[in-house]
Amino acid sequence: MSFALDPALAARLAADTGLWRDFNDICDCGGRLAGTASEKKAFALLRERVRAASPANSGRSIPAPYNGWRAKKASLRLSNGTMAACHPLVRTIATANDGLTAEVIDLGRGTPDEFAEHAADIKGRIALVRHELMFAAGTIHRRRKYDMARAGGAVGFLIGGPLPGHVVAGSSGRDRGEGIPAFGIAPETAARLARTGAGWPSVTMTIETEEGPAETETLVYDYPGTTDEWVVLSAHVDGHDLAESAMDNGSGLAAVLAVTRALAPQASGFRRGLRVMFFSVEEWALTGSAQYVEALSEADRARIALNVNLDSVAGSPNLAALSSGYAGVEPFLLQVAEANGQSLRTVRPLMTNSDHANFAAGGIPAIRLVAGFDDPMAHLRVVLTPADTRDKVAHGELRQATLLTAALVAAACNADLAEVAQWRMR
Ligand SMILES: [Zn+2]
Repeated sequence: MSFALDPALAARLAADTGLWRDFNDICDCGGRLAGTASEKKAFALLRERVRAASPANSGRSIPAPYNGWRAKKASLRLSNGTMAACHPLVRTIATANDGLTAEVIDLGRGTPDEFAEHAADIKGRIALVRHELMFAAGTIHRRRKYDMARAGGAVGFLIGGPLPGHVVAGSSGRDRGEGIPAFGIAPETAARLARTGAGWPSVTMTIETEEGPAETETLVYDYPGTTDEWVVLSAHVDGHDLAESAMDNGSGLAAVLAVTRALAPQASGFRRGLRVMFFSVEEWALTGSAQYVEALSEADRARIALNVNLDSVAGSPNLAALSSGYAGVEPFLLQVAEANGQSLRTVRPLMTNSDHANFAAGGIPAIRLVAGFDDPMAHLRVVLTPADTRDKVAHGELRQATLLTAALVAAACNADLAEVAQWRMR
């Protein structure tokens, strides 16, 4: 069977000026932190754009309750009395009014080895680790470092960002209840917190937060095919309040909208239907997609042939598909890319760094398309910093990612049963 995208459709997609317009409009909404007006504005924009693409499909909204959180103020005071810039990690616990003063133990990158070697030094101190390139083999996720810090008895958590002069955002991974205060800081601040002959430097972390029940949503648009099977195309709406969350994930959202415009009118002729999903609270430990997959019955899961999740698909011309351990889907991905004149690499280990991870864990073949994997020079290195802005995204890169996505989704919607059976092999 042919995996090449229909040439007329490919030409239409390549000429779709809506792609760049949508990307810019999504960035204009702001950083889209869950629970903010910026996130709501982005949902309204997505609704409007999907309605324009398929007026007869009003979609459905699934409520996504979560533990809301907001930082009211945060500060980091160094031992010499000067204040350093800091950014509270999502859902960090608050400190007492007069803050938390403790010594800082620098654990370098924050690998399990470093935590183990310093086990005797961590208790009662603030653990300092470094943010690392997120899209690379062997990356240790910030949430794991936070968990190791807590397990070691640290009383606070600092993570040094990748970009000189700028703090870094992220989630602490805490849901509710106990935790330790956690801030992202600039690399220069981290450098100032090195141990000296005089001992470990001390700092004062102060944070005031507001917590309570909150609710966002998951938006779903179904375009049925000729069977009751589905291919799920997804992207997360939420981001961080440092900039405009352009690469992560304005790029994925704009690509999903363009692919929806192109494929929705064709879906009724596909073997499998196209299900377009917009998740939120992804940056909050993948909460929205976790709730969605949990609520699916075994039969529902069996009917989803593949999840194609777009997260940070521009910022580098090099695209990778994270295949989440589903080795059997890799030949299909590579064949589709080749048939459409695109280069793609596959990366097999399951990375729990976006919504595809919940599909994969739920037994559904799931991939994440991501740009700049294993490339320390790609713009993607500044994701989660104030530099995740639209100027990092080239129109051509976004168009390439969109074309590849359309080809993958169309081929997946039409793949034969023997092919699809391969995908579930791990
Ligand atoms: Zn993301």
